[in-house]
Amino acid sequence: MAGSGEPLFSVRMRAARGGPHERGGEHVSGAERIVPAPGVAAAARALVRRALAGGLGEPDFIQVTLERLAAPPRRVAPLPVTTLTTHDPEEARRAAVSLLAAAGVAAPVAAGAVALLAAGPGPGGRNMRGAAVMDAATGARREPDPARGVRVTRVDVAPEARRAWGARLRRWGLGAARVSEALVLATKVAWAGALAELCWSDDPDYTTGYVAAPGLGYVRLPHVKPQGVPVGGRVFFLPPGADLPGFLRRLEEPVLVAGAPQVRPPVTLAAFLEGMGGAAPAAAG
Ligand code: AMP
Repeated sequence: MAGSGEPLFSVRMRAARGGPHERGGEHVSGAERIVPAPGVAAAARALVRRALAGGLGEPDFIQVTLERLAAPPRRVAPLPVTTLTTHDPEEARRAAVSLLAAAGVAAPVAAGAVALLAAGPGPGGRNMRGAAVMDAATGARREPDPARGVRVTRVDVAPEARRAWGARLRRWGLGAARVSEALVLATKVAWAGALAELCWSDDPDYTTGYVAAPGLGYVRLPHVKPQGVPVGGRVFFLPPGADLPGFLRRLEEPVLVAGAPQVRPPVTLAAFLEGMGGAAPAAAG
């Protein structure tokens, strides 16, 4: 059992086409696991298979990194999951701005972040490999490299929670790996001190995005982008004056998300905000 002192390994995969990422290759897929030693070989094999299956295309560069974790990871409870009943990009993006504002992001900054993802957040409207980091009050960009963004690494569902985790999400029709992986990432980002997060995928066939925040949970936004659009990204919002180096360090600190997530039935934005008491949740430190 994790937590009993058994050594754990971080197993990470990244794949690109046209050479490695750092030599200009185009990102094709990436994924990671944290597993006990006996599971390392199977996890690495599964990640290589996934890379070869090609996310956004066929890779010619695949890197797998195996790293024994020096200390037991922190354990963090998953954000609760809600799906909103949004029907089209206009409605879903309006909802994103309202949710971000409820989480404490200035409304013009929230609207700017939505526009940034819509346009392609990287230089020249390209996708980024990581996330943009924005000051929640001013919208100022805080990531050290705006072309690459910041990356969340070393996070997974706790080994003993995987079965209940998968069963819970499947019961609600949320069994796809991408939902699980995004929920794990969003949980870690909230724990690390982000006031809120905005995300939609760059996968042209996946049109559900989300807003996540400590007080809101993980709020899914169906149809946040039109089908067939290969542009997306992530924005992490920090409270004004937040300690950026500390936040970036926590994004890479090993974390296991423990316990099955609470999942709520789909609701309208109005009902969701009403249920929150209409109040802005407390900012994370
Ligand atoms: P995806 O949901 O995998 O399509 O990712 C959407 C966007 O989120 C990507 O284009 C990246 O900009 C960003 N992203 C993906 N994985 C990570 C990560 N581990 N850390 C930070 N940002 C990420």
